[in-house]
Amino acid sequence: MRGLMQDWSLLTSKILDHAALYYGDREIVSRSIEGPMHRTTYSEIHSRARRVAKALAREGVREGDRVGTLAWNSWRHLEAWYGIAGLGAVYHTINPRLFPEQIAYIANHAEDKLLFTDLTFVPLLEKIASHLTSIERFVVMTDAAHMPKTSLKKAMAYEDFIAGVDDDFDWATLDENAACGLCYTSGTTGNPKGVLYSHRSNVLHGLAANSADALGLRNRDTILPIVPMFHANAWAIAFAAPMIGAKLVMPGMKLDGPSVYELIETEKVTFSAAVPTVWLMLLQHLEQNNLKLSTLKRVAIGGSACPQSMIEAFEGKYGVEVCHAWGMTEMSPIGTLAMMKAGMEDLPHAERIKIKLKQGRPIFTVEMKIVDDDNKEQPRDGKAFGRLKVRGPAIASGYMKGEGGQVLDAEGFFDTGDVATIDPDGFMQITDRAKDVIKSGGEWISSIEIENFAVGHPAVAEAAVIGLPHPKWDERPLLVCVLKKGASATAADILAYLDGKIAKWWMPDDVAFVDEIPHTATGKIQKVTLREQFKAHKLPTAAE
Ligand code: ADP
Repeated sequence: MRGLMQDWSLLTSKILDHAALYYGDREIVSRSIEGPMHRTTYSEIHSRARRVAKALAREGVREGDRVGTLAWNSWRHLEAWYGIAGLGAVYHTINPRLFPEQIAYIANHAEDKLLFTDLTFVPLLEKIASHLTSIERFVVMTDAAHMPKTSLKKAMAYEDFIAGVDDDFDWATLDENAACGLCYTSGTTGNPKGVLYSHRSNVLHGLAANSADALGLRNRDTILPIVPMFHANAWAIAFAAPMIGAKLVMPGMKLDGPSVYELIETEKVTFSAAVPTVWLMLLQHLEQNNLKLSTLKRVAIGGSACPQSMIEAFEGKYGVEVCHAWGMTEMSPIGTLAMMKAGMEDLPHAERIKIKLKQGRPIFTVEMKIVDDDNKEQPRDGKAFGRLKVRGPAIASGYMKGEGGQVLDAEGFFDTGDVATIDPDGFMQITDRAKDVIKSGGEWISSIEIENFAVGHPAVAEAAVIGLPHPKWDERPLLVCVLKKGASATAADILAYLDGKIAKWWMPDDVAFVDEIPHTATGKIQKVTLREQFKAHKLPTAAE
């Protein structure tokens, strides 16, 4: 017997309709690329998104066509997302931090028909324009007054692009499984691969990500998504926030400590989300200038492991609750969050921090397990390591145009490429990316955990642990550190600091100091490059 409920397609356009109708006057404030702050509302975004859709239709963009965006977080970018998806086309966010050749590869692979770009990236696009084979028009997200002279094909200012149409446009009636958004993973090995979200996955993920023990956003919240819309589907915020009509503060291109601090205080931000490197810049700014956070209540930290010192600073010093989250582009992207379970609230502070250091428990719609090399499920005892596999309605079933081949196992699980433990309470902890694990004497050493402690040393700004070949143990860890400006520490100081915090046999065999640690386009430590950089490094313990 079938249920007798209405067949209401889960479409992203429904989210914006809801926001405009019930939270129409709620603000979206942006630091514009042109400079000044810009203020609009959900009601205006709704109207302008329909004009975007109508203008795209006039341009010949049809259902299923890809429309690229190369842009920071702003009201125009949000309008573009909803306009593109509302027409039934596919918004394709491109990460501007990728190498120019990768940007060209991705735009061509996706066959983007039109590209919305911020002013910032016009020079970059002009340089690669001759390699962009599918884009028929470039729309620069600005007005006529700020429109630069450019050689880009049929370039037009965004405000002119939508000026020629009104907002009388009916959102496309679509199958909820229709493609909605596209985001390529940075692909540290091989070419970038496209993750293709559907309307259904975006709506379901927005709902799931926003449950009370996940992001838990509320109408009264003021949300600052520092995580760019081009990084892993903006961590669901572009859908979750309008669902409940929260005020949005879009930071534009300025993500440095002082700029972020100013936005938080002037707009009275209560919730924000970013990767650890961005939070590090804010915390340093607060520390150096003896500042307080007067409105911020919670921050989501993910993309890389959140160090203990960061949780302690936010929660202990500034009274801001940390939601440590893990996920990946292929998961829409949120997988787990380290939120306390019933009964854990009363644990001593130090115990709760230990729990928060883990990546956490899955949101509903995410199933997960760890397996060994023979795909045998490993116990959830907090000790057994295994490859982390996931399954759910907002998790990729394959990549754009079949790149990478069959990515699901026989039970439909996707291999995250992460190695993790799961404890009896269901908290998952990432040990490493599978390709970065350090195997010493047949046992795994968690580079993430050592890095986490190392950055707790007062002189250390950033740390990375890599495995180097060793005649006796196969591999032994080398700790690579960047020191804070003006700070000094020796290898012996740092090793002494780690002593007692990690198992004796996890102790790095050596510490090297560098001015900079290489990062990927999404801010992760590029260990392949580091290993290459240190391949001639002789560990003192490796001498025969
Ligand atoms: P990329 O395009 O660089 O792969 P993703 O955001 O999709 O960007 O990267 C996902 C990966 O980032 C995960 O598989 C995991 O290795 C890492 N990651 C994300 N969040 C965390 C976290 N909280 N702790 C440790 N690693 C994390």
